[in-house]
Amino acid sequence: MSRNSVFVLATLAVASLLPRAAFSQAALTKSFSGAAALNFAARVVAFGPRPSGSAANTRQRAYIREQLATCHCEVSADAFTAQTPDGPVAMENIIAKFPGKSGRAIAITGHFDTKKMTNFVGANDGASSTGILLEMAAVMTGRPRTDDVYIVFFDGEEAVRDWTDSDSVYGSRHLAGKWTADGTNRRLKALINVDMTGDKDLDIVYESSSSPSLRKLVWDAADALGYSAFFLRQPNAVEDDHIPFLQAGVRALDLIDFNYGPGNAYWHTPQDTMDKLGAHSFQVVGDVLMRVIPELEAEKQ
Ligand SMILES: [Zn+2]
Repeated sequence: MSRNSVFVLATLAVASLLPRAAFSQAALTKSFSGAAALNFAARVVAFGPRPSGSAANTRQRAYIREQLATCHCEVSADAFTAQTPDGPVAMENIIAKFPGKSGRAIAITGHFDTKKMTNFVGANDGASSTGILLEMAAVMTGRPRTDDVYIVFFDGEEAVRDWTDSDSVYGSRHLAGKWTADGTNRRLKALINVDMTGDKDLDIVYESSSSPSLRKLVWDAADALGYSAFFLRQPNAVEDDHIPFLQAGVRALDLIDFNYGPGNAYWHTPQDTMDKLGAHSFQVVGDVLMRVIPELEAEKQ
């Protein structure tokens, strides 16, 4: 037996101990888990109501940072004082950057604050987006990348009182201004915002203010994955954290399920609790986002 054949046999022996899939690149990277995203949502709901400026909001931000510390990303804060109808409120967006090499960028965003209301824990409205973003950050770690991928956790999406242009989307308005000033918005190929997409009964609005080409890319990805039933075709306009970026000239899309409970009865009520959420809905949104990112990276624009 030659040294060479010993080497070959030894290699085969090792190979036979490993599952075949271990040799494919895809198997070497973690795939998006809806169950893990749902679990992250449950962890932040356990902090209780998390309106901007509250101690629970601060504790939640520390938790998000702890999770991001385990990812291979650059974490930064966008802290500011929002002028609200209830006076100045300290707010802070958290930004995780996964560096690419093209000079272009993609952003996936969502909000972590909850509406300032008694007994409101925002399982779907606040925690679901936080859970999806935390699981995406875990999945992005170790993936080959072309463009920079930003995962952004917005504070201050909710109105402190009633929703107006000046009392809403504080965090995204602040970051859109900052990213216009520092040139990041010009590098963005796309920004996709997720909000309230944890509902067991998932139906995502065909949001009519969003950029049509980006909406088509996402809806096509959903079709290709067999998820057409969860993506509506009837246009409806929803104001959300994507709007300040659209106004800044960024190609942007909002993924929101705005049909939460009978007649939207769970929205902004104490009924917005974990039992209304389903891991499959997190899986659907995560799978679509993970499919769309490389498609955006392949775009030459
Ligand atoms: Zn809300």
